[in-house]
Amino acid sequence: SVPASIAASLSTGARQGLLMKGGVVIEAAAKTGVVAFDKTGTLTQGRPRVTEVVALGRTEREVVELAAAAETGSSHPLALAIVERAKAHAIPVRNATEAKAIAGQGVVGTLDGVAIFVGAPRHALSRSNFDDQAKAAVEQLETAGKTVAAVIADGVLAGLIAMRDEPREDAAAGIAELKAMGLRCLMLTGDNARTGAAIAGSLGMEHKAELMPEDKVAAIKALSVDASVMMIGDGINDAPALAAAGIGVAMGSGTDVALETADAAILKSRVRDVPAMIRLARATMSNIR
Ligand code: ADP
Ligand code: MG
Repeated sequence: SVPASIAASLSTGARQGLLMKGGVVIEAAAKTGVVAFDKTGTLTQGRPRVTEVVALGRTEREVVELAAAAETGSSHPLALAIVERAKAHAIPVRNATEAKAIAGQGVVGTLDGVAIFVGAPRHALSRSNFDDQAKAAVEQLETAGKTVAAVIADGVLAGLIAMRDEPREDAAAGIAELKAMGLRCLMLTGDNARTGAAIAGSLGMEHKAELMPEDKVAAIKALSVDASVMMIGDGINDAPALAAAGIGVAMGSGTDVALETADAAILKSRVRDVPAMIRLARATMSNIR
């Protein structure tokens, strides 16, 4: 019977770490036309590491010390990477005063009377002057798929910190499977356009970059006009985009919290579990018909 085959599929999925909240979700998953992914922590490992520090107005050590102090005010993966770099190089990590995160941009704080900003170069441009050398360095690092944090001290560009968050091992294979199943795959990211293009290109997928959280929601709504959209994200930062999609799927570390708002969850952080979930949903619906 229909309820029995739905129940069987739900439990088959659950055994593989693919949780779907009932038959309505299976039915919707089977109809998916577009799969949209958040980048950080979903397609990538979510664990960026510092690859290089470019000293401009200050020494390399000073750049890292100032940045780490301000980043004590943030729990963003980039903040953790910068603090980790300081520790690895025996650079003291002091707490900046009034350190606070600016969502989608970076952090600010004050250390020894110096006002610090650490964040996306496109947001740093309005706070400091970038000469041609600085602009060229940013461009070269971003084209290599790295995320650059500009470090500004009292309105002067102190240096750049480049970080790279590697794609998950099975990301390219997962995207290839989805495309072979006839699905359109899109990466949505708050990261800059050059980094977004580099990572998406290496995975063979489309992308939209420089999105603020509300832009991700708008992108999902626009895609939903002509297709059934499944959105995969970490469920914490991306809760609004997951809610806006036909099906919101939480993947990774935050899945237990996220399941309260998401329609489905992938417990093992495997990109290939996305095609597995859609295949299971399709098979279930064709058994019923
Ligand atoms: P993502 O979609 O990549 O998770 P976010 O919306 O969290 O992006 O942030 C957008 C951009 O703002 C990041 O790519 C980064 O350039 C910058 N940013 C945000 N938080 C920080 C931080 N704590 N330190 C440095 N840069 C940051
Ligand atoms: Mg994010």
